[in-house]
Amino acid sequence: MKLNISNTFNTQLPADTDTSNTRRKVFDAAYANVNPKTPTHPELLHVSKDLAKSIGLKAEDLQSQAFLNVFSGSTIYPNTKPYAMAYAGHQFGNWAGQLGDGRAINLFEVLHNNNRWALQLKGAGETPFSRQGDGLAVLRSSLREYLCSEAMHYLGVPTTRALSLMLSGDKVLRDMLYDGNADYEKGAIVCRVAPTFIRFGNFELFASRNDIKNLKNLTDYTISHFYPDLGEPSISSYVEFFRAITMRTLDMVIHWQRVGFVHGVMNTDNMSVLGLTIDYGPYGWLEGFDFGWTPNTTDIQNKRYRFGNQPNIALWNLVQLANALFPLVKEAKPFEDILNDYKTNFDIKSLHMMRSKLGLQQSHDEDKKLIEELETCLLLTETDMTIFFRKLSALKKENNEDGLTIVNEAFYKANDISDSIARQWKSWFNDYSQRLDKEQLTDNQRKVKMNAVNPKYVLRNYMAQVAIDAANKEDYSLINELFDLLKHPYNEQSENEKWFAKRPEWARHKVGCSMLSCSS
Ligand code: AMP
Ligand code: MG
Repeated sequence: MKLNISNTFNTQLPADTDTSNTRRKVFDAAYANVNPKTPTHPELLHVSKDLAKSIGLKAEDLQSQAFLNVFSGSTIYPNTKPYAMAYAGHQFGNWAGQLGDGRAINLFEVLHNNNRWALQLKGAGETPFSRQGDGLAVLRSSLREYLCSEAMHYLGVPTTRALSLMLSGDKVLRDMLYDGNADYEKGAIVCRVAPTFIRFGNFELFASRNDIKNLKNLTDYTISHFYPDLGEPSISSYVEFFRAITMRTLDMVIHWQRVGFVHGVMNTDNMSVLGLTIDYGPYGWLEGFDFGWTPNTTDIQNKRYRFGNQPNIALWNLVQLANALFPLVKEAKPFEDILNDYKTNFDIKSLHMMRSKLGLQQSHDEDKKLIEELETCLLLTETDMTIFFRKLSALKKENNEDGLTIVNEAFYKANDISDSIARQWKSWFNDYSQRLDKEQLTDNQRKVKMNAVNPKYVLRNYMAQVAIDAANKEDYSLINELFDLLKHPYNEQSENEKWFAKRPEWARHKVGCSMLSCSS
């Protein structure tokens, strides 16, 4: 196994001078060196072959002992020095101070076909940032992160990737429901991959300590490697840097709203500087369309991170990033202008995204109203978001009476469709049909366009849980099946029709299916 190692983060930014693996506050440094814990009996459960190829691995490497050793943390790749990154963050709206990679250990960066990739192990043992944690991860959360990051990639949503899922062979103690019933679970390690794992929180850490020298170092480093078009460091390039991050963050959130993804823990330490979906914890997928839904039991009181609030929270987080970058610009106005534009840009992009879900190519004044009325209808009774939009593409322009029948499968309880609800829907279908008359596309052309943005298959919460339950009994076949299914989320897959179905009733209130804690 030969990789083209090309380290930059830990060669261009300062390391902590303390090299011990003790929990502490780390000052004047972007990271601390730390080696992964040696797992007792590592076992490879799955590998993402496409990603492996993208980072320069060969098919035969994936079977090798070297691969197992390096990506389980058993051995360190020659001439590399693993490290944990220092960052801070706002959690659930409150300043939390230093956080850092408490259970992620960066191995190295590679350069392949001119693309830079940082590789890190999640769950490979404690680091100076572990605080009260053990630095480990359990199979349940690792499997969820592994499958979902790759699924999001294939959905076209900006995301960190996942190269491999391994069992460590060690047992990990977790109180899954935080109810005093701790139990041992299988330990696991995911190798995550992204151009960089720098978060908003990395900038917040230095700014909070008034460490302007390192704030500037980190910003210059990030711009030169990941936003090279912005040019040399200057006040204006720092402002443009913030603008670019704002745009990417907005695009990411619009994608989440398009596919019905709820991140669940949008703390500023979980916001990537590249606008990538990062840190898959208690995330979830909308089944019934619901702006108020969150999968995260820790957030059930305030529902801060509910589906409909994600665009606002992204903005809130960007305000924190603006505060952190402010010392480099020393003027609030440029930041305020960008933040003010966010709202306008969100309205424009969100409308464009919703039009695409409805197969509308043109823009007309009545579109906003049509979309709002659709959202009202979707909330009348529990309506599966994925099934609704997918089925809607089968509508024929001439035949609007059929609308309700076409999307019937999306309703959780067909009995809930009272006469008055049916009338509201019919009226909407009527408006939609009239709106379609203004379009040039044929029914079939519209269907093709709609099916390219409305996925047929997403990782429904219960699907991941079924795979977890099987994996806990040493049956790993579903990991493979779901991985392959989710590689082509927009395709019709006749053999996989069973996964194009509403959440089964047994999963409605089952832990892991409708609600998740942060325990992982
Ligand atoms: P998260 O909610 O997963 O984004 O994590 C928030 C912070 O807690 C980060 O600094 C993590 O590194 C840290 N953390 C989460 N779980 C553990 C764990 N098991 N051991 C050590 N640190 C952890
Ligand atoms: Mg995190």
